[in-house]
Amino acid sequence: MMKTIIYTIDKDHIDMEKIREAGRILADGGLVAFPTETVYGLGADAMDGEASKKIYAAKGRPSDNPLIVHICETEDMARVARDIPEAAYKLAKAFWPGPLTMILNKSEAVPLSTTGGLDTVAVRMPSHPIARAVIAASGTYIAAPSANTSGRPSPTLAQHVIQDMDGKIDMILDGGKVGIGIESTIVDLTGEMPMILRPGYITRDMLTRVLGDVCVDKAILSENADKNFRPKAPGMKYKHYAPKGDLTIVEGAPDQVVLKINQLCARAEAEHKSVAVIAARESAGKYRCRHVFAIGSRRDEESIAANLFAVLREMDELHVDVIYSESYYDDGLGQAVMNRLLKAAGHHVINADD
Ligand code: AMP
Ligand code: MG
Repeated sequence: MMKTIIYTIDKDHIDMEKIREAGRILADGGLVAFPTETVYGLGADAMDGEASKKIYAAKGRPSDNPLIVHICETEDMARVARDIPEAAYKLAKAFWPGPLTMILNKSEAVPLSTTGGLDTVAVRMPSHPIARAVIAASGTYIAAPSANTSGRPSPTLAQHVIQDMDGKIDMILDGGKVGIGIESTIVDLTGEMPMILRPGYITRDMLTRVLGDVCVDKAILSENADKNFRPKAPGMKYKHYAPKGDLTIVEGAPDQVVLKINQLCARAEAEHKSVAVIAARESAGKYRCRHVFAIGSRRDEESIAANLFAVLREMDELHVDVIYSESYYDDGLGQAVMNRLLKAAGHHVINADD
């Protein structure tokens, strides 16, 4: 166990002394967790192969699951990538700094341990002021996957990072609750057509408006039933976000869903199981179950995205055995929410009308 330094930082009045200390740790090959606008990241020097290996160890992350390299100026893109297509500059202009990651051909300078052995690199320029200050202070580029233990829900509060990383990393910067709550959109620009590998806050429509046609990796909402199936983002093949309780998504007409979930809850409670329901604010009051979590409003998908991971973590704290969730729309930001929720449920979905 190492001693983890934990600092609280106000993103509107950044204490540069603490940021410089974080920058020194990173420059010396250490690990620092910090908030970004999407989720908390676990940072290391992306250009130092030994430093990025420490990320895999702290997270228990499989070594073939590549890391996203975080930069703080668009010009830095040309340091970590080569043969950069025009589309990358267009997207950078439209969405950086912000929650968009681009897959590009990697430059020689980026070690293979950062890219999970691939000759492509994932690049993102975050907008969160603490993230930007930390990257700048480090004097390098920062590999930063979500700061959770591999397989657990991504952290949206410093408390989540402390649960998973205290004693394993050098420093945690607590900048409060993150804004978006789900990870960046990943778009691959190395193929013939831009392809979304992971949905996020930047939706397909938003990308299409800048680039014209954009396709979507079919792995995004489907189950990996096929053994030969290989999602293009290696991380998408791993079990992820799963709470310890058994999560089932119930879809169908809204009234039928309420009826079905109430029946399932009654049955599970009769078997002395501890049960929780995840529902939209509009319907949460209709469930007769001890633990009902109103995740956000259907009229405000952003509120659902912002609370999803924290709610999944609360399930573990309550030690519930069985969880039933309503289903959400699967277009726009809803597609990103459903992608995470389906993974958390191991694609276990039932229809209320059956
Ligand atoms: P995380 O940092 O935890 O948000 O996970 C990063 C995601 O980006 C994982 O799903 C990775 O598989 C994906 N990724 C990172 N680098 C690449 C790359 N070069 N090609 C395809 N996917 C990548
Ligand atoms: Mg992650």
